Amino acid sequence: MALSPMMQHYLQTKEKLKDCIVFYRLGDFYEMFFDDAIKASSLLDLTLTGRDCGLEERAPMCGIPFHAADAYIAKLVSLGEKVAICEQLTPAGKELVKRDVVKIVTAGTVTNNELIDEKCNNFLGSIFIDDKKVAFAWADITTGEFSVRSFIGDKSISELLDTLVRINPAEIISNDKASELFKDAPLVVHGVLPKFCAFTESEYNFNNAENTLKKQFNVLNLNVFGLENSDECVCAAGALVSYLKETQKHTLCNINKIKFENPDNLMMLDVNAIRNLELVKTLRDGKRFGSLLWLLDKTKTSMGARKLQNYVLSPLGDAEKINYRLDGVESLYKNTLIRQGLSNMLSAVKDIGRITGKVSNGNLQPKDCVALRKSLEILPNIKFQLLGIESQFINDISDRLNDFSSVVDLLNRAIEDEPPATMKDGGYIKDGYNSELDELRSLGKNSKTCIAEIENREREKTGIRTLRIGYNRVFGYFIEVTNSFKDKVPFEYQRRQTLANAERYVTDELKELETKILSSDERALLLETSIFNDIKDILRSLIVELQTTADAIADLDVLLSLSIVARDNNYVRPKIVDENSKLNIVDGRHPVVETLSKQRFIPNDCLLDNDENRMMILTGPNMAGKSTYMRQVALITLMAHIGSFVPAKSAEIPLTDKIFTRIGASDNLISDQSTFMVEMSEMATILNNATDKSLLILDEIGRGTSTFDGLSIAWAVVEHITKNIKAKTMFATHYHELTELEGTLGGVKNYKVTVKDLQGSIVFLRKIMRGGTNRSFGIEVACLAGVEKSVTDNAKKILKKLEKSDIARHVDIDDKNVDNKVIEISECERIIKDIDVNNLSPMQAFNILLDLNEKLKG
Ligand code: ATP
Repeated sequence: MALSPMMQHYLQTKEKLKDCIVFYRLGDFYEMFFDDAIKASSLLDLTLTGRDCGLEERAPMCGIPFHAADAYIAKLVSLGEKVAICEQLTPAGKELVKRDVVKIVTAGTVTNNELIDEKCNNFLGSIFIDDKKVAFAWADITTGEFSVRSFIGDKSISELLDTLVRINPAEIISNDKASELFKDAPLVVHGVLPKFCAFTESEYNFNNAENTLKKQFNVLNLNVFGLENSDECVCAAGALVSYLKETQKHTLCNINKIKFENPDNLMMLDVNAIRNLELVKTLRDGKRFGSLLWLLDKTKTSMGARKLQNYVLSPLGDAEKINYRLDGVESLYKNTLIRQGLSNMLSAVKDIGRITGKVSNGNLQPKDCVALRKSLEILPNIKFQLLGIESQFINDISDRLNDFSSVVDLLNRAIEDEPPATMKDGGYIKDGYNSELDELRSLGKNSKTCIAEIENREREKTGIRTLRIGYNRVFGYFIEVTNSFKDKVPFEYQRRQTLANAERYVTDELKELETKILSSDERALLLETSIFNDIKDILRSLIVELQTTADAIADLDVLLSLSIVARDNNYVRPKIVDENSKLNIVDGRHPVVETLSKQRFIPNDCLLDNDENRMMILTGPNMAGKSTYMRQVALITLMAHIGSFVPAKSAEIPLTDKIFTRIGASDNLISDQSTFMVEMSEMATILNNATDKSLLILDEIGRGTSTFDGLSIAWAVVEHITKNIKAKTMFATHYHELTELEGTLGGVKNYKVTVKDLQGSIVFLRKIMRGGTNRSFGIEVACLAGVEKSVTDNAKKILKKLEKSDIARHVDIDDKNVDNKVIEISECERIIKDIDVNNLSPMQAFNILLDLNEKLKG
């Protein structure tokens, strides 16, 4: 048996799209066949049927109505599938219908609103790795943002992973080497990053990639984008563009430039800093609520919200750029009237960035035009407000707000203020915009009035009270007469349809009118489409200006948001000082804890430098506030680097190249390692990468192993950082022995979090002071936490016993406030060992006891 021509075409199409589920348009349905049908029917919960296709066995098949496709595509894409849409390009007729793939929808290239979060970018990533070089390019086709950076040296792979976590692409394509290399990477295996899909290797070839980019940007060389010395970037970016072309099948007008990200201009945040400092989501439940981004986000537009995320995850590494932003924030901070005015105006601005994306991607709707018009209309007022502000950044923003008055006028005249939800029935072009359209419409309208007139006339003429004129798609206009009046029907009525209780007729007059109405409706519809296409062309010619404006609005919205947060929460402008200066925070607060906690937040100072104060050893009871304090210093440092005001009375923040954090028990799932192994490998990364310009936040190093192993590791780490790396470091620990390092190791200073011990129950004072402590109050905290009294009582007894038997006890450095001095364990041991118990007089025994007692008392 031979395959039907349609099936032959289907199989040819599918052959080229092995990794996609093909939606094959047949009439009003998209059908899937064979394995695609089996897979999709189970993923989408569809009934699996079969179709005769000329083979012995029926082809498995399932289908969905074409008008409901978006939701099904969204579901498949969110499950990590790619969907190829094969459309019917010619109307059904005797000839074989022409069909072709018009688009491939993938997670990184979706343009469907249902699938993209308005506050986040949806990036497609492309990775190129060869023997020496690594590059990563990323683009969001819904906005046209396109960036690339390269990674050089032995840390390139770990830096690449940090960047991937920061950018969080929805889909990653790569050359073969990269996909092979990352096949089993824990971050990929556990779904933190999507699987790397190998894309056509030749597209990563330098010459091909360079040509693709030159063509895309319409330039003769790529120097304008700073890519001249970075072949690897060209490879990654070129392949990305050709993947977009392959999937989108159009010219990608909004991908018209590329930003070369220079790591020297940024502060580096690794995977752990992003996670532990809860920059965009919390550790506990992965939600935005409670993160720094949540706190700082008072933006009014989605463009601003996306930009703010970008600011937070890419702090700057250049004082001039930071101050440029801080000046902008300060100017708005100081001007309440303008701040409020701008807030109101920006609240009415819609997502110009993504509407521009729709112009480029071909899915612009009339309602987007209205949103665009209303947004662009506000620009002159915004510009006027900005005149009252003195700041270079704000001036530059104002310059980037282009003049769209003629487009506003066009959209105003052309598009209905409340257009219908879909375009299929027309009605979205305003009356009065196009005379031909007006004529066709009035023709249609008049004819419809004529129909009403005919209905009345015929009723009167025939005396059929129930006579009515109706319309359906199959029979067109008809006169309906109920059976009880059948004998009154005039002979010129021509019967068309018999119903249970009525007959339907047509007349020549009605047919004539119908042709007029239908043809005028049809022509009006065509004309509306063509007018809308012209408007789209005009908007397409303005894509660059619209993108620039969207970006300026986003910047303004971020500055405004930062100024509002600063005002509402009483922040101050940080002073950015050079790398080797002091980090000096007076009355610093944790921005999120102070907002969410019901208790009054106790501010604390912090002094770190590259000299006598480079290592802060922080001890104090459980729950006292050590982690909060360290994180607040890291967050204040980070906020300063994004150009935000900070929660403090005053803050001098030195330029910092990297913030590292090693906090608590890590989620070992994502690295396939034990908790202790994770801790140690994170520690190794920090020791290998930190510099004297870095800020290190180390919480409880060495906890996941035996006490002496842990203490030794913690001790050695402190020594190494202080002596060799010289990074500004905060080191919280329950190993109180470490407080001995102050005085013996230059640069180390002890700090403790104060508590009051009120007859066995502790009161947290939350104040950080100089000095060390010797107790963790773990049992008291367990009591507070509600651990059963019998257990905590027993724990107290055990603790007493352990303390008695512990010959390594320390002097109470907290209360006596003396230098931390370890008892000479070896001395005591030696005395005890040397005793010849069998020949000991009671007096000698008493003297030895006295001796030991005195030694132990110090
Ligand atoms: P552990 O050693 O058990 O990890 P910790 O010393 O790190 O404890 P944190 O987790 O920092 O303690 O703080 C415990 C709680 O105390 C926080 O959740 C916060 O609500 C509160 N807290 C911390 N610092 C302050 C402060 N300065 N002012 C008010 N409340 C605070």
